[in-house]
Amino acid sequence: MARDERATPRTGPDDVVRAIGESARSALAIVKASVRELSGVGCSAPGPLDHLLGIVHEAPNMPGFVDFPLGPGLADALGLKAIYLDRDTVMAAVGEAVAGAARGARDFIYITISTGIGGAIVSGGRLLRGAANTAGEVGHFPVAFEGPRCGCGSYGCVESLAAGRFIAEAFGVDDAAVVFAAAEANDPRAQSIIARAEKALGNLAVGLANAISPALIVVGGSIAEHEPGHTLEPMRGAIAARAFKVAAAAVRIVPAALGRDVGMLGAVIYARERLAGRDEWFR
Ligand SMILES: [Zn+2]
Repeated sequence: MARDERATPRTGPDDVVRAIGESARSALAIVKASVRELSGVGCSAPGPLDHLLGIVHEAPNMPGFVDFPLGPGLADALGLKAIYLDRDTVMAAVGEAVAGAARGARDFIYITISTGIGGAIVSGGRLLRGAANTAGEVGHFPVAFEGPRCGCGSYGCVESLAAGRFIAEAFGVDDAAVVFAAAEANDPRAQSIIARAEKALGNLAVGLANAISPALIVVGGSIAEHEPGHTLEPMRGAIAARAFKVAAAAVRIVPAALGRDVGMLGAVIYARERLAGRDEWFR
């Protein structure tokens, strides 16, 4: 009904909470509504996090977000208890499942290939959480024996080989688009960085097809959107060449449908589901 966007403050988590509170009130003002009229609020956040307590454990790209109670902070800022917080990729999977490319699928994996790489897994109609709620963090699946250190502290993660930030870093520029353009123009160094990224994504795709056996892998994020030939295609090719035949025959790799609004739409749908008592989504 209304939209308010603003830049994320870099001055610490309390300022981020304040900015989100102000942003929400601005959006409400556009439709002449107040917080009292809201049933609940959906909040898409970087993870790992505890979706029940609303605590963000780690957010490497956001200074100060270490075991930070974002959900309770927003509840205070807005004067509303019903804050439903979850990982951005979970929100995206929920959005794609209800209104996007994964409609009707009971077994699917959502992957975003953007600045970083992340995902969420829906298995048998339920969100796979795991014991520590990190299930679906496919960006930190190791796909190489050696390889660059990843932001998570490990090495050989698919993120550290195929995410936009790391592709750009490996070439010594700020923007991965520069590297794709250079590879297109036959720069051998750019081509080898892109070829390595494609292999990493291929390994991830084969591992997911064999180990999780989804019917769909929905791939979103800016890199996937702009460079399907260097992301979705090598994933399809690797699965066709190397996955179990039955797993390969069962899975399709498709582009995400909801674009950059996927987190927002997913968060709205997620809040509605939680309010309706469907606590573990997809039950
Ligand atoms: Zn990692």
